[in-house]
Parts: sequence; structure tokens; C-alpha cells
Amino acid sequence: MALKAGKTMVVRMVVVLVVLILALSLVSGASLVHIMVINGEKYQSYASEQQLYDSLVTAPRGDIYDRNMQFLAKSSPAWTVFITPNGINKLKDEKEAEQVRTTIAENLSRILEVDYQTIYDDTKKNSYYVIVKKKIEKETADQVRQFIVDHKDLEIVKYVGLDETTKRYYPNGNLASVVLGFVGSDDQGLAGIESYYDNDLTGIAGRVVAAKTALGTDMPFSYEKVESATKGKSLVLTLDSYIQYTAEKYLAAAIAENQIAERGAAVVMNVKSGAVLAMAVKGDFDPNAPFTLSAEDEKKVAAAEGEEAQNKLRSDLLNRQWRNKAVSDTYEPGSVFKVVTAAIAIEENQINKNSTFYCSGHATVAGQGYNCHKKGGHGSQTLMQAISNSCNPAFITIGQLVGVQTFSKYFKAFGLTEKTGIDLPGEATSTYHSEEKMGKVELASSSFGQTFNVTPMQLITAIAASVNGGYIVQPHLVEKKLDENGKVVETASTANKRQVISETTSATMRELMEFVAKNGAKNALVTGYRIGAKTGTSQKVSKILATGDHYLYIGSCATVAPIDNPEIAVIVMLDEPKGDKYYGGVISAPVNSKIMADVLPYLGYEPSYTDEELKKLSLTVPDVAGLTAAEAKAKVTAAKLEYKTVGSGETIVRQLPAAGSKVISGGIVILYTDAEAVQKASVPNMVGLTAGDVNKVAAAAGINVEFSGNTNTGGLKSYRQSIDPGTEVDAGTIVTVSFRDDSAIDG
Ligand SMILES: [Zn+2]
Repeated sequence: MALKAGKTMVVRMVVVLVVLILALSLVSGASLVHIMVINGEKYQSYASEQQLYDSLVTAPRGDIYDRNMQFLAKSSPAWTVFITPNGINKLKDEKEAEQVRTTIAENLSRILEVDYQTIYDDTKKNSYYVIVKKKIEKETADQVRQFIVDHKDLEIVKYVGLDETTKRYYPNGNLASVVLGFVGSDDQGLAGIESYYDNDLTGIAGRVVAAKTALGTDMPFSYEKVESATKGKSLVLTLDSYIQYTAEKYLAAAIAENQIAERGAAVVMNVKSGAVLAMAVKGDFDPNAPFTLSAEDEKKVAAAEGEEAQNKLRSDLLNRQWRNKAVSDTYEPGSVFKVVTAAIAIEENQINKNSTFYCSGHATVAGQGYNCHKKGGHGSQTLMQAISNSCNPAFITIGQLVGVQTFSKYFKAFGLTEKTGIDLPGEATSTYHSEEKMGKVELASSSFGQTFNVTPMQLITAIAASVNGGYIVQPHLVEKKLDENGKVVETASTANKRQVISETTSATMRELMEFVAKNGAKNALVTGYRIGAKTGTSQKVSKILATGDHYLYIGSCATVAPIDNPEIAVIVMLDEPKGDKYYGGVISAPVNSKIMADVLPYLGYEPSYTDEELKKLSLTVPDVAGLTAAEAKAKVTAAKLEYKTVGSGETIVRQLPAAGSKVISGGIVILYTDAEAVQKASVPNMVGLTAGDVNKVAAAAGINVEFSGNTNTGGLKSYRQSIDPGTEVDAGTIVTVSFRDDSAIDG
């Protein structure tokens, strides 16, 4: 069907229509059309000698930024390599065709790391467009271009081509991966923000429709239509990369230290706006390679018996690493929930902060007995003491005072029966006793946070309402949507959903939570700041029943700060600690403390230290390099640190610790005036000592210490040091000594 110049316009239109119909019959229905249009894959179709060259121009996917306009996800240029086998098939000289095939297969297999035989077989297909490899980087694309240029003799340019497209790139690797999600091979969002906002992020592909001959030259008549591509909307998240990094760092460290078997989650949220500043889930994945398992998980797969079992395990582990534990998993909150129970009872005037409760160590409701975690009982306690003691019998009493109807009404009002509506896919639904099915026994267990399941996100939203004046906020991750010119086209609403308790009740809750932090949840304290806290530990009852393993706990802790006018709430939950400690107050609260300690100064809150705190304050080692010995001594003294000079030179050539390091006040800086000189020290045993004694022992040994964890209350003993006793180190080396309140029981 050769088309000759001079045919009438009508004939041309018929040809174009026939070609269009042929082109449509080539694609498998709507799905490929969808891929073409939605995902901007370039697509070409050919028929007979003529072809309708219908080329989609890739629309870049919108970018994702954190709240400081740092890139979290971006689309960078990439190239798809294709071959045109029918061009080769048409060569009259079979020898030449064979040479073209082997040359293409040899070179492309080397450059693209694709199997030689696969490419060779592809060059024989009856097709004008076969993709060899998708989304290669510029460097590789340049090598393909060079290969084409180097083989002008064989006219490789006719048979190998490059389509420009885009590739999703996450510059920070694992950072916030569970929130961001990832995209598929056609840039379609498959999880997280990428999935939830796929319609916004996906651009509108442009297209060039032109009629050309089979070899790509223009047809004798001209037909061309161009529609330019529109980039997808970009998203500015509420996440702050620094806060996210901080939360992930401390969460990962706690997971390692406490041998957490079922991952952990931490959320940092603004209690007034619902803006999520960090949502950390570990173990996670690298969104640049979402189908890659961690080395540890790969080992588990390898250990499974048989291919079927291995494939199933691989699939389970991939789903697990993608799963957002903060919103897609529910758990029994345990004693953290006592904050909500107290808020309900205070709001309903059933109790006030001076109410007293008696705990004999045991309580009975409708024939069902409950033990307090303190066997002998707490005796008579005020509300403040009862919540700080995390006394279940006291909260059973409070629950019964409130009654089923009122409890259920507030449980719903606090948002615990509905999804929070956060802008993420896969939010879990809570499970709880409905009002109709709730008796006194169910009310008793519910009032101390058991026999119902909520997500960490629901719980932090309820805790936020308890201290922010009583408002249920809308948790959200996307602050703004931007068009392709960077103009804001949509801004998240930060309107409250409703008020559940009064400002007066909320003020009492702030007082209660600060009392708990100071007296019951000491590991959550932050030097220099006033915070509120509540910790909790729950047993995984259904899994215990199913497996017979009784050491299955979830430890969690919620903190809010600054307590006089809270802005930030942090929730940390660790699922199945396998170490020797499992209480939320012992394993989770230190994570809350570390996150708050980094985040509050970062957000501009100035610390205010007590005299006691000042003694344990970290000081920054000054930079004395290049100074004379006298100048250096003066500078170190001004920084409230001790010094020791080593060597007989005039100027300081080296110092230890390095400038900018943190050491406890009274620490020593070794000033070297001789580059060759070395002063050694032996690390002393600093475990089982009070903070004051650690200081003394370290000073005597000539090393420095930095405190980690809770040193806020007197009498606590250190439980770990970063360098083993007896190790020979350079004098002045910093050893981190960790403190923890192991009595923080919150059953
Ligand atoms: Zn008790």
C-alpha cells in the first residue's frame, strides 16, 4: 500500500484514519491507553509502509518537598532504550542484517547489563518498537548514543533509539520512606503520599502526532499536531527533614537496644494545627529500591524451606517494610489512655485533681478481679498520684463513676471510633466495645486502656486534644499544593474538627501530665524544659493466646511540650521488645525525651535550667587550634572546662575532644603542642554510679563523659557506657554514659 504524492486530501484522511484504527487495535484496550496518557510513556505505532507517529511527551511527576522546601522526592530525566526490529528485518542483505543484530546485542548487553540472547532475539521480532531497558541514567544514555555514533557504517541510528522520560528519585534514601511511599515502573504512585496524591502528582502527558514513513522520515504530505506536557502538582509536606531524621535516628537506636521484633513508630505532631512534623517507622526501606529487602530479611527468606515458602515470606516482608505502623496498625494503648479517661471524668465533674482514690492492690467489678501492678496496693492517693502511679484500680473507679453511656460518648468525641482522616492510604479502623455491648467489666478494662485497639495516630490526636484546650485537630501531611510554576494552588485547612473538653479541663490535664513526667515517667523528662508525659505497656493478648508466648508487649509513651502552652506532641511505640526491659516508661520514654531534647531548641524554645541541671549540662568544647598555649588555656577556662597541655611547643597543633564536641561541665581538654606526642588513658568502670560519681571517676582517669538519658532526678544509677572499662584510649576521649529510671512501671 504505497502512498504516492498527489493523492487527494480525502485519500490522505482515510489513510490517517485507517492507521489510527490499526494503532488502536495494536494496543490492548483501555489499559495501555491509560498507561500512555496517564503515565506519559512514549508510544509509537506503525502500519505497513506508512506510520502514524504518535508520540507521547512525558509529563514530569510533581516534586515532594518538606516544609522547608527541601526535596523529598523529585523527577529527574531518564531514558528508555528501544530497538526497531522491523527496520532490520527489511534489510535485503541477510549477512548485513545478522551483523546489525549481533552488533546491537553485543553493545547493548554490555552497556545496559541486559542478557545478550534476549536482545538478539528481540532484534528478530516482528515489531517496530521493542523496549530494551527502561529509565537509564544520563551516563548510560550517553554510552548508548556513543555506540550509535560509532557505528555509522551499519546505520545503527535507524534501529536503536532513546526516548526521554523521567525517573523518580528520593535524595534522602530511607528518610520518611514509609510516609512518601514509592512509584512503579510507569511512575504510578504505589504507596504512601505517592499513592494518596497520585492524581495531583501525575502530570498530563503531551503528544506529538505526525505521519512518517517507516524509516522515520516525514511523509510526502504533512500532518502534525503538538500538545505540550504539563508537569504534575508538587506537594509541600508538613514534615521537617531535621525532625524526621531525629525521630528516625532515636527510634532506630531504641529498636536495636531493646531488640524490638515487630518494628516501632514515632510521630511528632503540632497539637494546635495537626501538622505532622515527623512520622518515623522502622524498619523501613529505600524508596529508590522498594523491592529490596534488608540484609536481615534476606537471611530470613534464604532460611525458608522451598521456593513457595520463600516467595510468600519475601512478599510478606516487603509488605511489612512498606506498612505505615503509625496509621495502618492498631494496638492496645494501655496506660497512656488514662489521660483520656481522666479528661472525661474531670470534664463531667465526676472527679477533680484533689479527688482521692484508695488502692488495696486489687479491685473487683461485677465479679471480675483486677490486680494493680503494685501488689501491696498504692493505698490512698490523689488523682495526680493515681495517674502518676498508673494505678489500675483507681482508674477502674473513675471509669465506673463516668458510666458506660458517657464513656462511650467521649470515646467517640475523642475521635477513637473513626479514622483520623490523615492524608495517607491504608488507615486502620479501631476496634472497641460499642455502647450496646459494653458492660461494667468492659468499661473497667477500657478505662485503663485495654480491650480496645487504636492507631498511634488516633491516640496522639486524642492526647493533643487533652492538652490543647480540648480541640480535635485534623492530622495532615500535605501543607500546600503547587502548580508547575511553583504557585500555591491549595493550602491544607487547619480548622479544628470539634471541641471535646473545656479549656479548664485541658489546663488540669496539662498539670496532671507534668506531674506524671516529674514523678512517674522520669525517663521522658528533658533537661531545661517543662513537659508532660504518660507511659503505657500492654500485653498482646490475642497473639499470646495464639502462640502461648507470654513475653509479648508493646511499650509506648506520649509526651507534650512546652507544658504551659503545648505545641508539640510526641508518641513512641515499640512492638515486642525481646530484651530484658519492656515497660513503655523504660524503653519508649527515653526516645520521647531525646526527640524533644533535639526538637524543642530547633523550634526556637529556649531552655531554662535549674541549678541542679546546670551541673550536668553539656558544654561545647571550643576550637583552640593554632592558638598559643596561653590563649588556648584562657579559652578553655572561659568555656568552664579543665585543660592539660602535652608537649613543649608554642602553639596548639591538636586538641582532644575535637572542637564542637559536647562534654559534661568539669570535663578536660587535652592541648597538644607537639604533633607526635600522645597521652593515653584507661577507661574506668562507670556503670552503676550516680551522675556525680561518674564525673569524679572520669576526671581522675583523664577522660570526658557525656550523659545520655535521664539524669534529671537524683539517685539514678548509670546502666551503660559507650567504651568498655579497661580500654586504652587517647586522654580526653569522650565516653557516653547512659542513665535510665528502671522503676518506671506503668502496667
Ligand atoms: Zn494501685
